Amino acid sequence: MNKPDFNTLTADNIVAFIGDIFERRGADSYVGEDVTMSQHMLQGAQLAEQAGAGDDLIAAALLHDIGHYTNEFPDDALEQGIDNHHDEAGAAVLDRFFPSAVTDCVRHHVAAKRYLCATDPDYFDRLSDASVHTLGLQGGPMSAEEVAEFAKNPNIDAIVQVRYWDDEGKDPTVTTPDFWHYAPVLERIVSRQAAGAA
Ligand code: FE
Repeated sequence: MNKPDFNTLTADNIVAFIGDIFERRGADSYVGEDVTMSQHMLQGAQLAEQAGAGDDLIAAALLHDIGHYTNEFPDDALEQGIDNHHDEAGAAVLDRFFPSAVTDCVRHHVAAKRYLCATDPDYFDRLSDASVHTLGLQGGPMSAEEVAEFAKNPNIDAIVQVRYWDDEGKDPTVTTPDFWHYAPVLERIVSRQAAGAA
């Protein structure tokens, strides 16, 4: 498939573009877990919605793993570094359309696991086997210095909350609405962001 130029992605079509990725690629397996990628991301969004969270948190939970699909995005969307990991890559493709309240949660959702392993005594028990395995590859729990630095992020509370939903959204027995149920949430954010940037 020919990929579009990044400039062809606009505030008017980015939500449909992401929805198309969910529809075509959502059944991809989420390595080591019992749910598919779209089940996982939609469960995160549903947990946010059920918790009464606002648009930004719902969007962040929904899109936190979009970096697994960056090969769907135009190559020049990733010129900041094609070798980036899925957390950084996901934030990079969303940066133009979503505020930092959303993209920080995407960018730091792997680091948040390392942060919580160092700061929340009960957290480690919540992790799936696959997540424990990758924790080692990702550097293990943060050091005290890393914790202090990470906690300075103005969106730290949102980042931590999205991480909890990330860990919870791996239940194969849970059903969710499909992507399009959440599309209006994304549209509101993208419109707001585009108006602010204009
Ligand atoms: Fe995830």
